Amino acid sequence: MKIAVIGGGIIGLSSAYYLQQEGHDVTVFDAGDGLDNCSFGNAGYICPSHFIPLATPGIVKQGLKWIWNARSPFYVEPRLDWDLIKWGWYFMRSATSRHVARSAAPLRDIALVSQQAYIEWHESGMDFLYLHNGLLEIVQTDQGKKHALETVDRAISLGLIDTEWLDKDQLNEREPGIRMNAKGAILFACDAHCYPNLLMHNLRLELTNKGVQFNWKDAAIGVECAGDRIDKLRTTSGLHAYDEIVLAAGSWSGGLAKTMGLSMPIMPGRGYSVTASHNPLQLKHPAILVEGRVALTPLNDHTMRFGGTMEITSHKTPPRMSRVQGVLDAVKRFYPDFEMSLPSCEQVWYGYRPCSADGLPYIGRPHHLQNLVVATGHSMLGLSLGAGTGKLVAQLIGRRKTDMDLQPFHPDRFR
Ligand SMILES: Cc1cc2nc3c(=O)[nH]c(=O)nc-3n(C[C@H](O)[C@H](O)[C@H](O)COP(=O)(O)OP(=O)(O)OC[C@H]3O[C@@H](n4cnc5c(N)ncnc54)[C@H](O)[C@@H]3O)c2cc1C
Repeated sequence: MKIAVIGGGIIGLSSAYYLQQEGHDVTVFDAGDGLDNCSFGNAGYICPSHFIPLATPGIVKQGLKWIWNARSPFYVEPRLDWDLIKWGWYFMRSATSRHVARSAAPLRDIALVSQQAYIEWHESGMDFLYLHNGLLEIVQTDQGKKHALETVDRAISLGLIDTEWLDKDQLNEREPGIRMNAKGAILFACDAHCYPNLLMHNLRLELTNKGVQFNWKDAAIGVECAGDRIDKLRTTSGLHAYDEIVLAAGSWSGGLAKTMGLSMPIMPGRGYSVTASHNPLQLKHPAILVEGRVALTPLNDHTMRFGGTMEITSHKTPPRMSRVQGVLDAVKRFYPDFEMSLPSCEQVWYGYRPCSADGLPYIGRPHHLQNLVVATGHSMLGLSLGAGTGKLVAQLIGRRKTDMDLQPFHPDRFR
């Protein structure tokens, strides 16, 4: 079949990978040059341990407290935008303990499908510095520790049995020679990480070598339908006919979905990262600093990435360097010997997470269009769930039974 994939981030490229493997004729359309979307500068975590969605009761309370703090890690830019208001309404409605409990198993399952897919890519020789080294979630407060101990129990009850609590001494043994202000940490041995820039570069190379066509700087702008099928895809270069279309345009998918008659609330959640090549912290494990909401990733022997902040904002708002300072301040609070001055704006990377209104991705076929598959809205988990999402997309296109139940991710769930 002739298939168009809209979007050349990790979700679009992973979909193209499995579709090409099944013998389809695949073209990827991207509005940009595909060299710096959200899939590049992220923390590179590939983690089944992230079974808690963004929409939780705690984040709403915390977000309200932080609204006037320029360095806070979570921020919703208030503005009169109907899409934001709708998204906020659904987000608050979803942020319940029941939703968190219901989402855990589907998020675990898709992450496990995805991690297995990355392992296969790694074993097939694709180089993206995949390392199965676990992940530490480091806490500083008594409340953080209490929550961490509950999370350990929850992880074990979900079958992630190699999860354990490390007290301060055990944590120091894992990271010898590093002074830390911490009460302890959760060690998720099930988690892995990679160098996302390398993954994106080599995946694109592999797809090109296998004959996937790329139409860079050719944005999808709408569709022409005939009954319950998309007859033509309209892009900036003209009208194109495809048998099937995959919508994977990341944080830009909401607007496009509207042109296709879908109601799929998505907001851009901007985050920042700084990649230091002189390695100011010799960490062995990737680490999340829980109260600081910062992610640290040792990308290779010399390179460390610091990332964080969730700014629900518009794509047009200029970057705010105060947030980057907030990330570095949080690192210093955990590692008192850490020294790094604020880099220039050009040295800071930022990207827009595609944040669905309930923190779960949209994956599936909408009811009213027979030849459209949606794969977007992965929020903070797009890299982790990328390869697995691609596999599921190929199963949907092939109209086969999927590796897991996709009902919780249905794109029509907010209709
Ligand atoms: C600081 C930070 C750290 C993160 N850390 C992690 C992590 O450790 N693990 C993890 O799993 N996730 C992480 N994430 C989230 C992850 O990066 C995203 O979820 C993921 O990259 C989204 O991938 P995507 O393919 O959906 O979107 P993108 O990578 O944004 O790709 C979308 C593509 O669609 C294109 N496009 C847009 N509009 C159109 C159009 N009209 N027509 C054609 N193309 C279009 C864009 O140009 C873009 O190339 C992090 C994010 C940030 C910001």
